[in-house]
Amino acid sequence: MSYLTLNHLEKSFGANHVVKDFNLDIDKGEFVSFLGPSGCGKTTVLRMVAGFEMPSSGSIVIEGQDVTGLRANARNIGMMFQAYALFPNLTVAENVAFGLRVKGVARAERDARVAEMLALIGLPDLGARYPFQLSGGQQQRVALARALAPRPRVLLLDEPLSALDAKVRVSLRNEIRAIQQDLGITTIFVTHDQEEALSISDRIVVMNGGVADQVGTPFEVYNKPSSAFVANFVGTLNLFRGVLEVPASGVVRLGEVLVKLGRAVDRPRGAAVTLALRPEAVHLGRDPAREVTLPARIDQVHFLGSVIRIRVGAAGTQVNLDTFNRPDTPPPPVGSQTEISAAAADFILL
Ligand code: ADP
Ligand code: MG
Repeated sequence: MSYLTLNHLEKSFGANHVVKDFNLDIDKGEFVSFLGPSGCGKTTVLRMVAGFEMPSSGSIVIEGQDVTGLRANARNIGMMFQAYALFPNLTVAENVAFGLRVKGVARAERDARVAEMLALIGLPDLGARYPFQLSGGQQQRVALARALAPRPRVLLLDEPLSALDAKVRVSLRNEIRAIQQDLGITTIFVTHDQEEALSISDRIVVMNGGVADQVGTPFEVYNKPSSAFVANFVGTLNLFRGVLEVPASGVVRLGEVLVKLGRAVDRPRGAAVTLALRPEAVHLGRDPAREVTLPARIDQVHFLGSVIRIRVGAAGTQVNLDTFNRPDTPPPPVGSQTEISAAAADFILL
């Protein structure tokens, strides 16, 4: 049975309908990310789960209990925000103890819990500091400890890393995931960063205009996007504009080249269609195992270390492809002529 259920959630602010028929089942211990562009309703859904915002209709059920009408502090949910949410006039230890004080937890237990939480976030000795004496990453770890201290049933994280610089962001997201798995706490993590969502989630809800467009594992969302929006928002895509020649077997003409998708396309003959390829599905050079070959010109080479991202001009468009670095094979020179190839099965029809 699902641990946290969102049933037909709707939310309007006046005439602005910002959450539309939002349904989700989350298992105990699961880490689910809400991924979508700014303004798509992520925070609003999270605030409804937390109890800071009442749904216009629909219900929220935790462990079989309908909490829709409960006040926020009766739900036992921990929440962490983007940044600057610590009380500046309280020490780290007092910040972490805050929720325990509100609940009336006795002093000795409170102190023990604070020590446990500070150890959990790797800052066991910083309890006496004030927030301004900490780095941004340390402050967010303290905010996490504060959210976790009352042992909430559900942890809600609203873009907790977006104010941090890139390196700290990556290490802290891994730390959050490790702590979450350690505690087995059911978590919703809001982000607009697709790499972040892909790297640490059990499942991702891709949101668009107040709607859950697709719900799936990172692998599913990336490889089997359910809409053009999802395909574009999650990961990098190379787009090819073509014409549908044979709907029954999915034959698409890209300039001089025919791509045989090998599956029926439910659109009329002659329709303009867009095919997409992930960078890793494009092979540099001809490959007999891949059915589609296109002439190409090397436009840019970005040496990233283990991966080399190459941009070529092919079929009248720009195509990004990724190859693994091999110490015995330098990347091709910019301006040189080559070919690229791809398996027909790797084309995504948008
Ligand atoms: P996200 O977190 O995905 O960026 P939000 O949930 O914050 O999106 O916002 C979704 C939409 O709801 C936006 O158009 C926003 O302006 C609107 N909105 C959010 N909160 C309120 C509010 N309290 N009053 C009126 N409109 C709001
Ligand atoms: Mg938001």
